Amino acid sequence: FRIPAPFNEPVLSYAPGTAERRALKARIGELSREELEIPLVIGGKEVRTGKLADVRAPHRHAHRLARFHQAGEAEVNAAIAAAREARPAWAAMPYQARAAIFLKAADLLAGGWRPTLNGATMLNQSKTPYQAEIDSCCEIADFWRFNAAFGEQILAEQPISSPGVWNRVEYRPLEGFVFAVTPFNFTSIAANLPTAPALMGNTVVWKPASSTVYSNWFVLKLLEAAGLPPGVINFVPGSGRAVGDPVLASPEFAGIHFTGSTAVFQGMWRTIAGNLPRYKGYPRIVGETGGKDFIFGHASADPDALATALCRGAFEAQGQKCSAASRAYVPESLWPRVKEKLLAQVASIKMGDPAEDFSVFMGAVIDRGAFDSIKSYVEFAKSSPEAKILAGGECDDSVGYFVSPTVVQVTNPRHKLMEEEIFGPVLTIYVYPDAKLDETVALCDATSPYALTGAIFAQDRAVVEQLGEKLRDAAGNFYVNDKPTGAVVGQQPFGGARASGTNDKAGSMWNLIRWVSPRTIKENF
Ligand code: GLU
Repeated sequence: FRIPAPFNEPVLSYAPGTAERRALKARIGELSREELEIPLVIGGKEVRTGKLADVRAPHRHAHRLARFHQAGEAEVNAAIAAAREARPAWAAMPYQARAAIFLKAADLLAGGWRPTLNGATMLNQSKTPYQAEIDSCCEIADFWRFNAAFGEQILAEQPISSPGVWNRVEYRPLEGFVFAVTPFNFTSIAANLPTAPALMGNTVVWKPASSTVYSNWFVLKLLEAAGLPPGVINFVPGSGRAVGDPVLASPEFAGIHFTGSTAVFQGMWRTIAGNLPRYKGYPRIVGETGGKDFIFGHASADPDALATALCRGAFEAQGQKCSAASRAYVPESLWPRVKEKLLAQVASIKMGDPAEDFSVFMGAVIDRGAFDSIKSYVEFAKSSPEAKILAGGECDDSVGYFVSPTVVQVTNPRHKLMEEEIFGPVLTIYVYPDAKLDETVALCDATSPYALTGAIFAQDRAVVEQLGEKLRDAAGNFYVNDKPTGAVVGQQPFGGARASGTNDKAGSMWNLIRWVSPRTIKENF
């Protein structure tokens, strides 16, 4: 039998008067009234260490959403043991039976669980109903439905045989457990990183980002409700070192599925390299890290479309997407129109508590660390003779961690703000002389060590081809006349190259293939 054909979960509007809006508001009300105490879950059992940390709503830091128990070395080792125990039965389960659990989870999410996941994501990540809907409902359901079908495609891939010889490939899970390390910015990534390896028969130790243990907890509960057996995914929040060190030291460590910062990923890669003699095999290392994603405008671009892409690409979700547009190149000939339109759009952005006021476009940045870091870039821009703040520049943490949408124009295309990842609502623009197109494209390619996403705006077809070629290594996800964010599972496989990651394309069969260790069998008849 075949896995049902996957489809993208339709995005609901949450417009005034809709049933989904009422249900979401009601659920946010309930969630806001109850502070959770979140345990670790190891082998299906709740574990409490008493070493508690807080999760707070970014837009109202006085509001504690949860306290969670943090893992230490003993709990991490228990999680590894639980993964080991659960592995044989899980790996032996027919593929379709494993896939059925995730398909059911997707259906539950698209149904009754939708307001819970979206409400928790809005409260925990300060996302608007739309940003939550595309993240914690649609993208999670899409990952589960599409991965189920992609996994089946992999299993079907077989070598040729001949009379008297039957050749076949068995797609076995890795020998050991997979470590999933998930970021704060997308509940969908938090859901995908542990479940993609699990779908392929692996058992997993999952460390969620500390700032979003609350929204991630509901992903775990949803998977339990869908029938995920105990020990397949073990939930161990805690500090990066406390969890990561014992995991990477384990002889059973077989792979890491990571999204987060470049520095952390590179540090783990070095640790893994140093630990190689301990392991049975070469661990799979799959990671998506930073970005300094560009929008490059050409003189033939539609300036209105370019301005809208700059605004949405830079400021949706407070710019806290690895894919966010954070540096832009605009030709002098288009700049007056682009500037006028962009600044008008930015001026109309409403910032506030998105869980309370659904008309808000931007919430707060995730936590104090993010706020302080983004603020330091804004301060730097204010003091830099090569930079001019055209909009925003206000940082206010009195109630929540609010940074206003900030547009900076620089006269130096290699300005610090053009080069470094800020991971917040700061868009830096360099206006280039039209005659210097070639040099500026070369600068765009060379300015940042990253290559996650990028976009070009041009209506001249020959230019589209030329820029596409010159920037071919500058972005793993390349957009023509669209913003560089918002990849949809099954439509735009997602991942970057250079310092942005291993480019294993989340939500595709290329990603899933990393989680199996194929065995080739030749049998003579
Ligand atoms: N997939 C997301 C997008 O296309 C970005 C993921 C990330 O921020 O890591 O916008």
